[in-house]
Amino acid sequence: MPQEIRHVSEQELVGFLQGLIRIKTVNPPGNEEEAARYVAERLGREGMDVEVRVVSPGRANVVAWLGGRSETPALMLNGHLDTVPLGENDRWDADPFGGEVREGRLYGRGASDNKGGVAAIFMAALAVHRAGISLPAPVVVTGVMGEETGGTGTTALLDEGIKPRQAIVAEWTSASRIALGYRGRLSITVETRGRTAHASRPHQGVNAVEHMTELVLPALKEYVSNLSFIPHPAFLVNGPTLAVTMIRGGVKANVVPDLCRAELDLRLAPGQDPAQVGEGLAEVVAGVQAAVPGLEVKLDVGGRKTPFVTSEDTALVQVLAECIREVTGREPAYIGKTGCSDGNVLAERLPGVPVVAYGPGNGSGHSPNEFVEVQDLVACTRVLATAIPRLAERGG
Ligand SMILES: [Zn+2]
Repeated sequence: MPQEIRHVSEQELVGFLQGLIRIKTVNPPGNEEEAARYVAERLGREGMDVEVRVVSPGRANVVAWLGGRSETPALMLNGHLDTVPLGENDRWDADPFGGEVREGRLYGRGASDNKGGVAAIFMAALAVHRAGISLPAPVVVTGVMGEETGGTGTTALLDEGIKPRQAIVAEWTSASRIALGYRGRLSITVETRGRTAHASRPHQGVNAVEHMTELVLPALKEYVSNLSFIPHPAFLVNGPTLAVTMIRGGVKANVVPDLCRAELDLRLAPGQDPAQVGEGLAEVVAGVQAAVPGLEVKLDVGGRKTPFVTSEDTALVQVLAECIREVTGREPAYIGKTGCSDGNVLAERLPGVPVVAYGPGNGSGHSPNEFVEVQDLVACTRVLATAIPRLAERGG
């Protein structure tokens, strides 16, 4: 029989998360170092091996070890310390940096994305530490900076040489669901340049706005809708999606515009290769340019996140599922995330390493009145604490 884990209490968990929420880590600018030191102080006080690794001034990761240090720990638990900005301030009914608990819900910016997850992974680690269990292989628990702006903190950890053999990002799924993967992403800027003319004689100009909206964007959309992909039952949004998110062009109501610029957000399904798709988009744009004399079309593709999906048959998923059954009494459900997270960074940099998302929370992240259910936070923490020794043993 595995050793009994004396879990951290609900009160302790709530208090720890409230403390985290009260430290502002809105990114930009981030200021995650204060939150990293808060976590390190709390765990260090109990004799855990924990370090703060500064990435840039005021910005840091916090790294805690169970079972010793290793460049190839059996498991990484990863949550991010930064949050998105408040957005519509006046739509908050609670102090976004207060951590108030009302009717079983803990409110605040980051409660769901991702400070609830950060609290769950570090308190789960603390529970394992307190139980005095000696792990068969090291486990690393990381609170990272810079997730909301591309994954700088997790990238820094990987650059420093940590290569876990399994990874769980503590992004919200809620206690009885495991996210097997994330879609990928490309952020695209496309620019059309033509020639101005008096709007009463449009044939004398080359209309950058019309060519953008009537030729370039439809061609790009058609290309994306024809991309092949293998549907996965866990993903609610299957396949790629393309959204035009910003567009600007024109100088005056009676002038044919010579410049138009659009920003597009492209999401990719597991199995689709961002680099290959990027090349395909460039060909489409080149085709439009060649067809219209006097029109120049420029394409810039960046922000690459590779999609991934982890098999249900991996020890990581099986063990986590078994712990969910034991702790919550519920049958785990598998989902696929429509967005991106540091899970994409880990999956891309560590090919073959199973990566899933599991953590407390709900869809209220990035919105006013963000909250986490206290019971969900407690359940997730217990599932993770139960899973840590078993996953250290299975080792990926
Ligand atoms: Zn997040």
